Amino acid sequence: MYSDKVLQDIAAIATDYRLKVASTVGKILALAEAYRSLGKQFTFEADADLDAETNRILMALSDEILADAEVRMRRAIEEANDEEDADEIVAFVLFDITAQNTLDKYASHLKFILEGWATIGFANGLSKGSIATNLLVFLANPYISPLWKKAFEDGRSYASKIIREGGYYWDKGTPISPLRGFVLTSSDMVNRAYNRGVVYGYRRAGAIGYRVLRGSDYDCPSCDDVVAGSPYPIDDVVLPVHPNCVCYAVPVFEKDIT
Ligand SMILES: [Zn+2]
Repeated sequence: MYSDKVLQDIAAIATDYRLKVASTVGKILALAEAYRSLGKQFTFEADADLDAETNRILMALSDEILADAEVRMRRAIEEANDEEDADEIVAFVLFDITAQNTLDKYASHLKFILEGWATIGFANGLSKGSIATNLLVFLANPYISPLWKKAFEDGRSYASKIIREGGYYWDKGTPISPLRGFVLTSSDMVNRAYNRGVVYGYRRAGAIGYRVLRGSDYDCPSCDDVVAGSPYPIDDVVLPVHPNCVCYAVPVFEKDIT
C-alpha cells in the first residue's frame, strides 16, 4: 500500500503553507501601510525600496517552501527505505519539475494579488488586518470575494488590470491561487520522491520490475491504464500517474516469472 505516513505528511502541507503565506502577507502589508495615502494609485513600484523589500520577502517565502519540500522529500524517501538514493532522487525531482522556477512564479503571482488587495483596501478605507483577512479568504476562493468582484465589475481600472495580470478571469479559465500552487507543487514533489524511492529500493533488493496497483477506488482511467500496463522494467518509474495519485508499486523478482 501507499505509505500512510507519507500521505499524512502531504496532507499537513496545506495547513503549514497557509501559515507561511499568512505571515508573509502580514509582513508585506505592514510595509505597504506607509503608502496608504496613495489610495487606489498604490503600487509597490511607487517606492523602489518598498518594491525591493517586497521582492526579497516573497523570494524568501519561495526559498522556505523549497527547503521545506526537500525535508519532506527526504522523509518520504526514508519511509520508502531507500536513503541511499536520497540525494539523487531529490536532485532529479527538483530538476524534473523546475521546482525553483515554479515556486518563484507563484511568489510573483502573490505579489500581484497583494498589490491588488492593498489598492482595494486603501481605496475602501480597510484596516491592514482586514486587508490581510480579505486576501487570505480570496486565496482560498477568488470567486467569493465581493469587494474584488465589485471592483472588477465596476470596471475600476486599478483592479481589473491586476486581476488580468494576476491571471484571474471571471468569465473563463480555472483560477489557481499561489497558495494552492505552493501546496500542489510541494505535494507533487513529495509524491514523486516517495515513488522513486520505493522503486529504487526494490531495485536495490534485486527486483527486475514492478507492478502498479490502485491505492484508491475513485474513477481514474489514467491510473487504470497504468495498472493495465504492468509490469514495468525497474528503471522506468511511471508513478505517480498524476498529482495526488496514490497508486503504488509491488516488486517483481526473477523467480516470480520463471
Ligand atoms: Zn493513481
